[in-house]
Amino acid sequence: MERQRVTEQDRFERRNNFDPVESNLTAEQVKLEASRCLNCKNPRCVQGCPVNIKIPQFIKALKEDNIDEAGKIIRETSMLPSVCGRVCPQERQCEGNCVLGIKGSPVAIGALERYVGDNTSAESFEIKPSGKKVAVIGSGCAGITAAADLRKAGHEVVVFEALHKLGGVLRYGIPPFRLPRTVLDREITNLKNMGVEFRTNVVVGKSVTLKQLKEDGFDAIFICSGAGLPKMLNIKGENLNCVFSANEFLTRVNLMQAGKTPTPLKIGKKVAVIGGGNVAMDAARTAVRVGFEQVYIFYRRTEKELPARLEEIRHAKEEGVEFKFLHAPVEIYGKDGYVSGMKFEVMELGEPDESGRRKPVGTGNFVDVDVDTVIVALGTGPNPLIQKSANAEGLEILTDKRGYITVDDNRATNLPKVFAGGDVAPVGESNAINAMGAGKKAAKAINDMLG
Ligand code: SF4
Repeated sequence: MERQRVTEQDRFERRNNFDPVESNLTAEQVKLEASRCLNCKNPRCVQGCPVNIKIPQFIKALKEDNIDEAGKIIRETSMLPSVCGRVCPQERQCEGNCVLGIKGSPVAIGALERYVGDNTSAESFEIKPSGKKVAVIGSGCAGITAAADLRKAGHEVVVFEALHKLGGVLRYGIPPFRLPRTVLDREITNLKNMGVEFRTNVVVGKSVTLKQLKEDGFDAIFICSGAGLPKMLNIKGENLNCVFSANEFLTRVNLMQAGKTPTPLKIGKKVAVIGGGNVAMDAARTAVRVGFEQVYIFYRRTEKELPARLEEIRHAKEEGVEFKFLHAPVEIYGKDGYVSGMKFEVMELGEPDESGRRKPVGTGNFVDVDVDTVIVALGTGPNPLIQKSANAEGLEILTDKRGYITVDDNRATNLPKVFAGGDVAPVGESNAINAMGAGKKAAKAINDMLG
């Protein structure tokens, strides 16, 4: 039987709105898709999932028309099925391991998970107060997951968020056409209903320090402040007006609603997005929607090496984004303080580098491109604010040479009762489900520690 497909918004229409591109499977499709699962004895899909969701079991419950049971099974390990069903790179994780994918199409595990998440609610728990208090710094995937597990154990949980809205990168980074805000709001409301306290506009490291949190009687602290420090190109012209990091561009549009609020965003005609990951796709597809006439993605390797999800690449192409492969940025040209163009070196692929991917090598040939805006999507590093302020107060947090907090298997830092996870202390690929896995591990270690 063929894999069931979700329906997608018309490729031309969606260029003008931020509504979800994909709809859910229908109930009938869910039954058909669930019936494709072989219920393998040794389910490789589970091994491919970073939090080991019991995939065959939840699919079996769907086959038996028991969606509530499916929801219960998923939420044993994942608090955010509606989010993960939308943003996880399933083709590299669960679906990438499904045996049906060897000769045909894998089971649409992500779409089934999303359907279950959207159509079931988290169970209500009886919470027995433990008398202990835990601070969670950051309200992204790791923070939300840890807060839920800590609260279930009876602790008073306070989540500190630097921005005025909750959700971290799920809110400011991932555009609503990939993750509708109703989905995110529902997950956060669940936590509020469990009694988790949220304090927004609190920048830990500035408004309050780690030492003060300890003095305020928090019995444990979980740092999951994300990776908010953009990596830039370090080339001539990068200081010109209309050069953005992808973080800034997406935050202006997604969080600050630029154009609809006093937050400004100059919409030019032609934009160059530099990078090939999911954030580059998000930035390019957002640029299409805010009104740029021509959106390019420049990447220094070939299409084969693009790190973004295949689905995001396909969606970007359908929406008119033009890909320029084997181009490495050399200089940004300016006129009157604003971007007026870019210079690229044409590359070719050489020998594989340490990542196993063939290394781009300059050919000595250069091309000029006419653009008025540049968005740099080369990844981010950890925001060093908390570490710096803690170090200044004599609480020296160990970090690696790139600034990521060093943690053990339980996500414990070198400081007593201080844990870290998610993008500020990544283990494996940086994505929503790995951040959730870190939140779960840290919460378990804290719960064990607090008895
Ligand atoms: S590997 Fe595929 S077919 Fe086997 S249990 Fe997992 S989803 Fe079902």
